[in-house]
Amino acid sequence: PATSLQDIIAHAKEYGFVFPSSEIYDGLQAVYDYGQNGVELKNNLKTLWWKAMTQLNDNVVGIDAAIFMHPLTWKASGHVDSFNDPMIDNKDSKKRYRADQLLEGKAEQYEKAGDEARGQALRNELGRLQGAEDMEGLRNLIISEGIVCPISGTANWTEVRQFNLMFSTQVGSVAEDASLIYLRPETAQGIFVNFLNVQKTGRMKIPFGIAQIGKAFRNEIVARQFTFRMREFEQMEMQFFVRPGTEMDWYERWRDTRLNFHKAVGLPAEKLKFHIHEKLAHYANAAVDIEYEFPFGFREIEGIHSRTDFDLKSHQELSRKKMQYFDPEINQNYIPYVVETSVGADRLFLAVFCNAYTEEVVGEGDTQKTRTYLKLHPALAPVKAAVFPLVRKDGLPEKAQQIVKQLRSEFRVIYEERDAIGKRYTRQDLIGTPFCIAVDYQTLEDDTVTIRYRDTTEQVRVPISELKQRIGHDVSM
Ligand code: ATP
Repeated sequence: PATSLQDIIAHAKEYGFVFPSSEIYDGLQAVYDYGQNGVELKNNLKTLWWKAMTQLNDNVVGIDAAIFMHPLTWKASGHVDSFNDPMIDNKDSKKRYRADQLLEGKAEQYEKAGDEARGQALRNELGRLQGAEDMEGLRNLIISEGIVCPISGTANWTEVRQFNLMFSTQVGSVAEDASLIYLRPETAQGIFVNFLNVQKTGRMKIPFGIAQIGKAFRNEIVARQFTFRMREFEQMEMQFFVRPGTEMDWYERWRDTRLNFHKAVGLPAEKLKFHIHEKLAHYANAAVDIEYEFPFGFREIEGIHSRTDFDLKSHQELSRKKMQYFDPEINQNYIPYVVETSVGADRLFLAVFCNAYTEEVVGEGDTQKTRTYLKLHPALAPVKAAVFPLVRKDGLPEKAQQIVKQLRSEFRVIYEERDAIGKRYTRQDLIGTPFCIAVDYQTLEDDTVTIRYRDTTEQVRVPISELKQRIGHDVSM
């Protein structure tokens, strides 16, 4: 049977990857905590992204900007005025929905029922109304399409209202407008406002990029699908500054580079696709999403956008500080154009986790059973190797612990002696440990151990002296 999102959520919780936030108080909607294994997997993904950006390119450097920024930042970026979702409430159930998502759901229904044309027509109309910010039109469309609330079953809808997704709070102790600040809804603006700081102090020459990993916050109206849509999440963004006129070249290059990254972390090509935006944000001249096929369908994990000089130009206007770069090659001053790549760490985590989750039927007849394991790339696995003494006596535990000590400066390695050895293998399978190393009586005689490979369950005998090299080979990327 196909893996459901419920299987994924249950596994993530049971094996210490993701817990609901403040679970003892019944949780907080759309907020999650990473557990002891989840944090390792997520850190591994972040480290790989950081390395792919700042180490494998000559011309990309990193920063770490604050979550709080001057409120004018969000005026300049357009978030104060237009970072809105259209929402609608059902008067009977008192449930709130995103008007656009209700209509997209309907379009999907048409398409699933084979009526592609009707689905497409509905999507086009939705795009037109959204573009025109026609809230009344959206409501009328919901009603004329006969969309009802799944809870109450009625079409007793309120007006459609624009709802700003930014969280705000106060700085200082006086509750007045001047002290209102926002939790950043994207990390990108921390890069734009620091563009000249980095360019000057780093003596950077265009084209160059600035990368950042950090928390972002959005008051999502419809928050579901686990870590796919969270109210507090983490972004990995890179802004690449280029000479105007060269942006399409870079856009295409980054689009391909980023797709390759997702393949390199183990996502299969057939579960990835580009979704080119036809309806562009006012500041963009090209945009594409990389989508992954989650158990709930193909959805965006990363966006690659050619943002022109929109952000730098509006910061220049509002701050009255020059955001220009002098290009010595053409002897000209200009505001650079920007190509950005923006991926959610939590969405990437979810994609990798869904992809790794494997159920296999093994054995035959009465002994047939389902083997569940996480087929993670060894570079991503929370634990690289687990070392087991066959029995808890005769010096085997001491020998196993010696091996752990030898390996742990290079890899995350754990020692495990509880339960029968078969059970220990199973426990490691469930968290995706690629190698289990067993110490037995022969080890005491000839310094060899068995390595058991997670994906094949094959066991091979190797000298202890080769362990570092063998594991090292597989966990590198
Ligand atoms: P969506 O349309 O799914 O809301 P978006 O187009 O608003 O996403 P961007 O603003 O382009 O997303 O953000 C870039 C990336 O940040 C997305 O590709 C996604 O991986 C991640 N992201 C955005 N919103 C969330 C969220 N609420 N929870 C988790 N990740 C998110």
